Amino acid sequence: MNDCIFCKIVKGEIPALKIYEDSDFIGFLDVNPRFIGHALIIPKKHLETILDIDNNQIGHMFEIVQKVAKTITEALDAKGFNIGNNNGQIAGQAVPHAHVHIMPRYETDEHHAGFEAAFKPSEDAKKELENTLKKIGTIDPVETKTPTPDPPKPETKKDENLDFAFDDNIVMSKFDG
Ligand code: 5GP
Ligand code: ZN
Repeated sequence: MNDCIFCKIVKGEIPALKIYEDSDFIGFLDVNPRFIGHALIIPKKHLETILDIDNNQIGHMFEIVQKVAKTITEALDAKGFNIGNNNGQIAGQAVPHAHVHIMPRYETDEHHAGFEAAFKPSEDAKKELENTLKKIGTIDPVETKTPTPDPPKPETKKDENLDFAFDDNIVMSKFDG
């Protein structure tokens, strides 16, 4: 997607204040920060929403979000932070290239609201709670990815005739005279 603004940032065609980069993701400061240090983490590949991010990359992305959030809050002496992610136009996603917002929060903020600043509890949604659960059902557990164990070390082949050579006492007694 050539006219995607975030793809242009990835390619270096438009500037951004980059704070993180690896082979698959970059992080940079939001050009219209809602709070000091407001940052975005995006995949380098043009993927529209987080549902398009590869299953084996999404965990990595969240690790980056955690690391960047920790660094930013410490560097800027923030007292907390919000993580946000809009998916789809209807959800307010203005840039159709998947991204996660990290917004540090300060004691000096005008208000200390989280989601309630944007979303009010809905009576209709509340009435629908039981029905909503029925529709969603329970979701199968996501398998924990265990790290691949190191391959076993090749066994050193023992030469039976040289066995004694590894034992100092035997070596000594053998050459003692
Ligand atoms: P969304 O509403 O899609 O979740 O958020 C898009 C974010 O991207 C907004 O917070 C907006 O300020 C930021 N943004 C849009 N264009 C640019 C840009 O060219 N550079 C940077 N650094 N941020 C941008
Ligand atoms: Zn893009």
